[in-house]
Amino acid sequence: MTTFDVINPATEQRVCGVPLASVDEADAAIARAEKAQQSWRSVAPADRARLLRRFAEAVDADLDHLASLEVANAGHTIGNARGEAGNVRDVLHYYAAAPERQFGKQIPVDGGVNVTFAEPLGVVGVIVPWNFPMPIAAWGFAPALAAGNAVVLKPAELTPLTALRLAELARGAGIPEDVFQVVPGRGSVVGERFVTHPGVRKVVFTGSTSVGKKIMAGCADQVKRVTLELGGKSANIVFADADLERAAATAPYGVFDNAGQDCCARSRILVQRSALDEFMALLEPAVTGVKVGDPADEETEMGPLISAAQRDAVSSFVPGDAPVAFRGDSPDRPGYWFPPTVLAPIDPASRAWREEIFGPVVAVMPFDDEDDAIGIANDTAYGLAGSIWTRDVGRALRVARGVESGNLSINSHSAVRYSTPFGGFKQSGLGRELGPDALDAFTETKNVFIATEDC
Ligand code: NAP
Ligand code: MG
Repeated sequence: MTTFDVINPATEQRVCGVPLASVDEADAAIARAEKAQQSWRSVAPADRARLLRRFAEAVDADLDHLASLEVANAGHTIGNARGEAGNVRDVLHYYAAAPERQFGKQIPVDGGVNVTFAEPLGVVGVIVPWNFPMPIAAWGFAPALAAGNAVVLKPAELTPLTALRLAELARGAGIPEDVFQVVPGRGSVVGERFVTHPGVRKVVFTGSTSVGKKIMAGCADQVKRVTLELGGKSANIVFADADLERAAATAPYGVFDNAGQDCCARSRILVQRSALDEFMALLEPAVTGVKVGDPADEETEMGPLISAAQRDAVSSFVPGDAPVAFRGDSPDRPGYWFPPTVLAPIDPASRAWREEIFGPVVAVMPFDDEDDAIGIANDTAYGLAGSIWTRDVGRALRVARGVESGNLSINSHSAVRYSTPFGGFKQSGLGRELGPDALDAFTETKNVFIATEDC
């Protein structure tokens, strides 16, 4: 049996070993899930709701433990990790309301009654990346389970610990064991098997755009349902009429949170030219003030990157001759540290401006007017998130409507909310997660006509 060594990215020490599943083991898990789903879909809606609420309560009771696992496994700051475990609880509570509200429609027709049903799909395969192991898992499994599906979930190889704990908590709460299974393994083994196995009726994939394209192509073979949440290169657009102090003070947290390993990172800052000097002068102390260090320390605002490979990848965007305007500190000890870094002036053809970095590196570009800002913001294959800073409400809405992106915030860098839809335009993804309509992505509409007249 192959085992994966989980490494603490803040210390480079081994935490534990986790066995990796083979194709045969993935097949066995899928077979068990198919069987279990037959009874799960028949559990009375109120009982399914109750079980999900109990699962949420079990997560809440284990919140500090889950958070400490994520600090050790992923280097997340303790404050963030608690918030992530709390997000799992909240997502479960939110979708616990769904089984009893899984309405169809009654549509007027001649000669009878026509109704629609929202039928579960069967087994759903959820493939999770390493950057937010807990929330991203829950955004897939909570609505999928609520809709009456069984779930097989593959965590990222690097970060399996919280997913494995969540599966234990689900069992403890009374969710039947085979209804929610966590199958740690390689992407090329377990992840790919979710795509090729005909018993998996839908794949929910969050990860890189390059792997997402392969998943989509693989799913085409069986017309398998797929939701993709992929990369981003989001713009933080600051107009000269904005509250520049707040815009500058918050900009680092819009990109350096989770050490920049966030698909929604506002990694391109666009500043109206007339305010550029003032904004940069305000940004510098905000960036150098970011507290980087031990993620278990309550004061820490930014921890390490996930791995040595990720640090190498991020470093490649900041070569020796990179236009570094200023940068923060990072600890000089074992751990995959990288300091918060601001690049300016940036060449718009450079990799750092065009590609997703997925690390604490942000580039700044001036613009002249609204059209210019929208044009620069949209000059990317991605379209996931973005922020707009202005005191002019008309401009805020014009720009929000003009930016090709799924999730925009005005005068904030609001995080993903479980009660609102989340997903990307263009190559940032396909479909939406969360919010009131997420159940649609885990059900098929069945139309049934009942004759009331003899024919
Ligand atoms: P990744 O390399 O694409 O991996 C994501 C997941 O897919 C992992 O579980 C991985 O397993 C698995 N995988 C890899 N190759 C596969 C294959 N051929 N078939 C099936 N599964 C496969 O992404 P990552 O490096 O973990 O995460 C970073 C990326 O995720 C960034 O681009 C980021 O923007 C994106 N992301 C997007 C969102 C969003 O909501 N839009 C959220 C978070 C992250 P292994 O761990 O074994 O490789
Ligand atoms: Mg990867």
